[in-house]
Amino acid sequence: MTERRRADSRRRYLERKPVEGSCPHCRSEDLAHYPVNTEGGWYLTVKCQQCLHSIHREPWSRLGPVHLLSDTL
Ligand SMILES: [Zn+2]
Repeated sequence: MTERRRADSRRRYLERKPVEGSCPHCRSEDLAHYPVNTEGGWYLTVKCQQCLHSIHREPWSRLGPVHLLSDTL
């Protein structure tokens, strides 16, 4: 079985982008902005990378970064 590059390109969408600011919980300045997939759909979230406290969360594209073939119901 050949492993495709697809996984890599998909991962790029889920890259964590550094965010300026500090965590209200642990005061770390290591914050990142990235999409997460929850049971309620995709959210764009800002999380502290130290304690994983969610600083911000907003609804995102329902289908996420890619249009999944299995998610067209
Ligand atoms: Zn924190």
